[in-house]
Amino acid sequence: MPSPFHSSFELFPPRTPEGVAKLGAVLQQLAALRPEYFSVTYGAGGSDQDGTYETLLTVVKHTGIEAAPHLTCVGSTREHVAALLERYRAAGVKRIVALRGDLPATALSPAAPGDFHYASELVSFIRQTHGDHFQIEVAAYPEMHPQAPGPGADFENFRRKVEAGADAAITQLFYNADSYFDFMERCGKAGITIPIVPGIMPITSFASITRFTAGCGADLPRWVRLRLEELQFDKAGLLDFGLAVVTRLCETLLKNGAPGLHFYTINQAEPMLRLFKNLGIGAPASV
Ligand SMILES: Cc1cc2nc3c(=O)[nH]c(=O)nc-3n(C[C@H](O)[C@H](O)[C@H](O)COP(=O)(O)OP(=O)(O)OC[C@H]3O[C@@H](n4cnc5c(N)ncnc54)[C@H](O)[C@@H]3O)c2cc1C
Repeated sequence: MPSPFHSSFELFPPRTPEGVAKLGAVLQQLAALRPEYFSVTYGAGGSDQDGTYETLLTVVKHTGIEAAPHLTCVGSTREHVAALLERYRAAGVKRIVALRGDLPATALSPAAPGDFHYASELVSFIRQTHGDHFQIEVAAYPEMHPQAPGPGADFENFRRKVEAGADAAITQLFYNADSYFDFMERCGKAGITIPIVPGIMPITSFASITRFTAGCGADLPRWVRLRLEELQFDKAGLLDFGLAVVTRLCETLLKNGAPGLHFYTINQAEPMLRLFKNLGIGAPASV
């Protein structure tokens, strides 16, 4: 039976033999939570497209659940992207997460080097070459993409991706539900009706959550940061507090109309099992 709300789990291609060995067990635990699909990152942390493809096949083999590769513009040629799309299509892929990709911190322009500079161009290319075969997901930024000159310009760029043919969007992680509701209001006024699914990252460590939020320009509310800082050497206390914060965020979003939730799992099952249990959704009794 599917979970009572649409969920999806994001994975990255494991980079160590231990990560590869652990993935099967993690997948089985996550699959028990009945996500609609798994998505697999590309390029983040230096992963290559083969890693994304291999992980995609592993997901399908271990779970039988749909897997969606992320595809990025950075350094890509039209020929390379065309070949990847053919490879994915042949493997039965029906959904793609289309992104510009992360640029080095030293990049002077937001335009990615290569044949595609922005995600909107990638979306157009996928539509031109494959029609409606792929469901295309794009990224949305309730708190603004950090390289945008301002929220208005960033919103126009989001609109461009929708007009290019995106079917749905996944947001950057955030801990302030109001930023999502404000973004949805702006979409409503602009006539944008595609589903926009909040991206949720469980909080499991003070160091990593401050790094992630700083890296993507997301606000970590002061009171949350202060509590996490105080709890940073009390692992159990920090996990409980982080779980309470993220549970409340998910409940607020779902209660107020979010069409589903996308989870940045960082290839860890335990935080997801605890979160789903807190949300009252069929986690195994042993958790
Ligand atoms: C759900 C999700 C999954 C992700 N997965 C990955 C992954 O697998 N691999 C990875 O490397 N990164 C990934 N990222 C990070 C993502 O690549 C970065 O956030 C990246 O900096 C922007 O990607 P985008 O697709 O949103 O870019 P775009 O939508 O292209 O926007 C990038 C910037 O350019 C601006 N812009 C867009 N179009 C124009 C234009 N025509 N003229 C001027 N400015 C413009 C935008 O306002 C923004 O500031 C992911 C992010 C999310 C939210």
